[in-house]
Amino acid sequence: QAKNAGKNQHQAYDKQTSHKQNRRLNIVNQLHQAISNNEFSLAYQPVVRLADGCTVGSEALLRWTNADNETIGPDEFIPIAENSGQIIEIGNWVLLQAFQQCKIWHDAGAINHAMAINVSSQQLKDPLFAKRLADLLTRFSLPAQCINIEITENSIVTEDQNSVTTLYELGELGTRLLLDDFGTGYSCLSYLKDLPFDVLKIDKSFMPANTTIASTIIAMGHELNMEIIAEGIESQDCYEYLKNLNCQYGQGYLFQKPVPPHEFDIFKRFD
Ligand code: C2E
Ligand code: MG
Ligand code: MG
Ligand code: MG
Repeated sequence: QAKNAGKNQHQAYDKQTSHKQNRRLNIVNQLHQAISNNEFSLAYQPVVRLADGCTVGSEALLRWTNADNETIGPDEFIPIAENSGQIIEIGNWVLLQAFQQCKIWHDAGAINHAMAINVSSQQLKDPLFAKRLADLLTRFSLPAQCINIEITENSIVTEDQNSVTTLYELGELGTRLLLDDFGTGYSCLSYLKDLPFDVLKIDKSFMPANTTIASTIIAMGHELNMEIIAEGIESQDCYEYLKNLNCQYGQGYLFQKPVPPHEFDIFKRFD
């Protein structure tokens, strides 16, 4: 009896694992045609200055609806694309698309609008990544400070010399570096000391923010002369609380969910 139960459990486990592997493989296969089939788009979420509610920029977030009309979230397909190597091509598509949109908004008068682009650790390893960005800035004649590069704390590989070099090259170029999902990874303090990050993004898992952790991160950021963006602001209370802690910027559903560019109001003031 006991032996049988163990066997059944084992089979259930195998079934689950193979189901997961199948889904993974399907996604890898479907990603091959995603760019040429026009299945990707970018959604934009406003970055709000908490003191006055002004929109100061946006974050570009990748969206995918596959050929079966199924929507798959970036939290699922980005790690798969990172493992398969497809993230490089996808990342280049994102860069081009985000630059194009940033240019459109700048030409529409939002001359200080800063566009934040999420970049994977695989992209940072490319020794030509900074040059690629420099070329895009020239091509679209955009000032470097209008492009923010977001790198998640978990993805930084300090042992990879190319990645570290890329970070410094980006800093020299003048694009701002944002440390994303701050507080969820390891060795965060040494990153802050040793790497050229300009902005900390407090991870949304620390919201609603009336906790010691959130206020400690904000105080530390101020101490280190870094700007702070709080992610995941969902309530007015949370907004007020962060504003009182002098957290400079925020994003969240309270203001707006990520939306397609035609629904985005670059001059919107949230108050
Ligand atoms: P992230 O960069 O930390 O982006 C923030 C995520 O929080 C987004 O999820 C956003 O839709 C969500 N969010 C925003 N406001 C709120 C809120 O008030 N409450 C809650 N609960 N969530 C909120 P999304 O779009 O599903 O993206 C997930 C992650 O996928 C991103 O996390 C980022 O790490 C990655 N990602 C998205 N687009 C790209 C991309 O173009 N390239 C790369 N490498 N990664 C990307
Ligand atoms: Mg981000
Ligand atoms: Mg984040
Ligand atoms: Mg995240």
